[in-house]
Amino acid sequence: MIDNHLPTAELQALDAAHHMHPFTHGAALAEKGARIITSASGVWLQDSDGARILDAMAGLWCVNLGYGREELVEAAARQMRQLPFYNTFFQTSHVPAILLAKKLAELAPGDLNHVFFNGSGSDSNDTNLRLVRHYWELRGKPEKFNVISRWNGYHGSTMGGGSLGGMKGIHAQGGLPIPGIHHIDQPDWWSEGGDMSPEEFGLSRARQLEEKILELGPDTVAAFIAEPVQGAGGVIVAPETYWPEIQRIVKEYGILLILDEVITGFGRTGRWFGAETLGITPDIMTVAKGITSGYIPLGASLVSDRIAQVIDEGDEFAHGYTYSGHPVACAVALENIRLLEEEGIIARAGSEIAPYLKEKWESLADHPLVGEAKIVGLMGSIALTPDKASRAKFKGDAGTVGYICRERCFANNLVMRHVGDRMVISPPLVITKEEIDELIARARLSLDETL
Ligand code: PLP
Repeated sequence: MIDNHLPTAELQALDAAHHMHPFTHGAALAEKGARIITSASGVWLQDSDGARILDAMAGLWCVNLGYGREELVEAAARQMRQLPFYNTFFQTSHVPAILLAKKLAELAPGDLNHVFFNGSGSDSNDTNLRLVRHYWELRGKPEKFNVISRWNGYHGSTMGGGSLGGMKGIHAQGGLPIPGIHHIDQPDWWSEGGDMSPEEFGLSRARQLEEKILELGPDTVAAFIAEPVQGAGGVIVAPETYWPEIQRIVKEYGILLILDEVITGFGRTGRWFGAETLGITPDIMTVAKGITSGYIPLGASLVSDRIAQVIDEGDEFAHGYTYSGHPVACAVALENIRLLEEEGIIARAGSEIAPYLKEKWESLADHPLVGEAKIVGLMGSIALTPDKASRAKFKGDAGTVGYICRERCFANNLVMRHVGDRMVISPPLVITKEEIDELIARARLSLDETL
């Protein structure tokens, strides 16, 4: 049993001494001390000092079912007793991986009937990168090697995922991007739209894809990868003209479309997948996070009939991870999906919770610090600005005001994340209307204190 009762100061000192945190400035954290989370239930976290914190981020956009579901614990324990591990390499398989692959094929849109299991979102995108390039090699077109993605998109932090993503801070460390990855601008009308209407801007940003394809040569481009709604980039919702134009372009030039649904999958946008909400037809879809509601790591690449057939008929696909299709993770995912379905959680999130949250979230736009307030399903953002009318940015370092606001939220026992000077939310799908009221009240208070 893990000792949850060590004093906070002692835990913080041990944390600083031995624990290297992801995406964290170690020295700054050591000085301040981490906030230590000890338990959770529903949408509420508890820290080592006993404070109750409303988690408006569902962990890291993943605890869709909420915390504390015994059914998932039991599913993991049952599977661990029966078969804690076996691999899916070398012509073996097992029941949890088989049943989960079948279930995902049923749920996924279009003809995404084939599943390659991975350990996380990042390594799922590494898989996708190899899949699309290998697909074109097998089709006799190895020169189709380039992959296009978007600045400020996020596809993970491995060499492949980090290169596909368009986060300049990631590219600045360790030799990314790897060869053959090219970026176009994101469809962020609020920050970058200038005098254009959102509709004109959406078209112009989509047409950057066409320009990039023509610049590289259509015969050299394997795929375009994007999130339906950019999550880690700040919940950037593209104007309505954007996705139809992207679909036209990929079809016209024979480019594969990889939709990264690591955040948007499993109900986040109010339907099972963002592809349905936004009417997008991908060739490959990346899923992770919500597939197990974050209770255990799992990622998957959902692959179309056409691509799977070519890959299967080629030589051995020399790719995979020890934990591809880990039986315990697959068992938890199956149980998570069963609960999402049988309890009607996604249906309720889409029809009841999302409209209520939208109304409340958008009401924050009357706050003097808030410019745009955007939301799709249960993922939302507000852009902080010193002047709404001109959509101005704050003087000084970008993200300073966002950071202050996030700190105010945290002090008010609300987890919201800041991405530069945008504040984002992505609460568990099981959040109640009363909890939404509480979230908005704490967010408003924190905004007042940021002023
Ligand atoms: N893709 C998207 C859209 C994500 O948001 C993330 C993580 O936030 C990833 C990929 C990477 O997933 P992981 O952190 O599981 O590697």
